[in-house]
Amino acid sequence: MPHKYVCPGCRTESSPYELEAGAQQHGQRHRDEFHGGDHPIGETIQPVSYQLDLVQARILAAIVAVVVLALIIKAL
Ligand SMILES: [Zn+2]
Repeated sequence: MPHKYVCPGCRTESSPYELEAGAQQHGQRHRDEFHGGDHPIGETIQPVSYQLDLVQARILAAIVAVVVLALIIKAL
């Protein structure tokens, strides 16, 4: 599950990272650059649910259609 870094002090959040470690590294860079290495109060690493964009959704629909067609043809 992807994760993102959230800094309430700056009212900002990172883009999602596939691994939690990526979000943690983003947080470290953010702290170093904007907060002198200190931890802003309330900063978090939050899980982000997967979301398909339109292209990914179309590819998934095409794959499902091919599988369904293959199952129908096999059953005949
Ligand atoms: Zn910040």
